[in-house]
Amino acid sequence: MNAHPAAVTKLNAKALNVTRDRVDPNALDVVRRLRDAGFQALLVGGCVRDLLLGASPKDFDVATDATPEQVRRLFRRSRMVGRRFKIAHVHYGREFVEVSTFRKLLAANEKGDHAAHPNGLILRDNAYGTLDEDAFRRDFTVNALYYDPHGGEILDFVGGIDDIERHCLRCIGNPRERLREDPVRLLRAMRFQAKLGFALDAGITRDERLTAERLTAIPPARLFEEFVKLFLTGHAADAWRIVKTSRVRNVLFPTAPPDSPLILLAMDSTDRRVGENKPVTPGFLLAVMLWEDYRSRIEELMASRGTKRKPREAALVAAHETVAAQRATIAIPRRFSNFIHDIWHLQERLESRRPKQVHRTLSHLRFRAAYDFLLLRAEIGTVNRDLVRWWEEIQDADTERRDAMVNALRGSAPGGTRRRRRRRRGHRQDDG
Ligand code: ATP
Ligand code: MG
Repeated sequence: MNAHPAAVTKLNAKALNVTRDRVDPNALDVVRRLRDAGFQALLVGGCVRDLLLGASPKDFDVATDATPEQVRRLFRRSRMVGRRFKIAHVHYGREFVEVSTFRKLLAANEKGDHAAHPNGLILRDNAYGTLDEDAFRRDFTVNALYYDPHGGEILDFVGGIDDIERHCLRCIGNPRERLREDPVRLLRAMRFQAKLGFALDAGITRDERLTAERLTAIPPARLFEEFVKLFLTGHAADAWRIVKTSRVRNVLFPTAPPDSPLILLAMDSTDRRVGENKPVTPGFLLAVMLWEDYRSRIEELMASRGTKRKPREAALVAAHETVAAQRATIAIPRRFSNFIHDIWHLQERLESRRPKQVHRTLSHLRFRAAYDFLLLRAEIGTVNRDLVRWWEEIQDADTERRDAMVNALRGSAPGGTRRRRRRRRGHRQDDG
């Protein structure tokens, strides 16, 4: 596309409060060594954007004209990663710096290591390019700024500085084409809207419905990665507020009720945990988002005449169906679907408090997560608060107190041992 190099605006970085001491020393080291070897190397993308906004970037990416192979040869502790395009990770202890080679956007008819879908969807864009070409292949203007820590300059080919100042997210080039090329950019736009509080340029939302429908052509594994970035990076509540009123919700989470207070609470608590550096898992959020669907499937299964199902069996079938339906768009890795199944299954155990199962429930690997889920359900009033208090107390109780609490249940708890013993004398039974 760029027969002549594009016009670049060079700005004094220091005047914009972007200084080397705000940059990860490892990233500076990568830049310096690439330069010493005769290559171009600059910081790029989210880190430059965040520095300009006065925030501390979570990682620093380097762009260079060295090919991944050349990067690999230059840094002993580096490896190549990436399916969609090759990038190098240069390792420093447990951390690494991502180094990507300048690439260019190819028109559908150009030749190169590039494959374009008939409908304009980019499948691979591995054609190397120049610095300015690299700027134009990026998604939004505010993500296409470069920082040269040696020259002390910010390089702007696309008007990104203005958009940073205006707090505006704008596609580089024609939004219709850019979103058609890669509809995931709509999700990214929503993520940056939530994270940065930027407004989306009208071009991004104009064909929202169409772009959202096109997400169904994206590999579910990539959508799962995007799901994680949307909801597990500390801005889930805002992201959900944006997503739930858009067509994206219908396409990606067709069964998640947009106004479910449970989902809102879960998003809030996820953000709080991220803020406190506590572990978070996509399994928990998915368990919440799919909960209503799961429950109605159980009801349907139990109500369908002609099939006599035990509740436990119906729950299992419902859980599998619910997760399978979501997997049509978003891949859910096995460890997370196991997590979801466990959380749902444990809800029943926590609610029934069968004396014989209490100890086993308490020592279940997922007890704590299931208890957190129960807590959210109590907060919206669908579960008795006394029940939550009981589980809260028994978690922290010593053995003696635990036994006393369990004994107090016998005879009083509905669905207690009496009924079960009659039904299944002598057999150990995990679930009622
Ligand atoms: P964050 O701070 O959340 O990581 P980021 O802007 O660094 O935000 P990344 O997903 O890490 O986002 O991507 C790094 C850079 O790669 C982006 O800033 C952008 O320039 C470019 N990029 C990423 N995804 C795309 C895409 N789908 N299309 C075009 N450019 C992209
Ligand atoms: Mg990044």
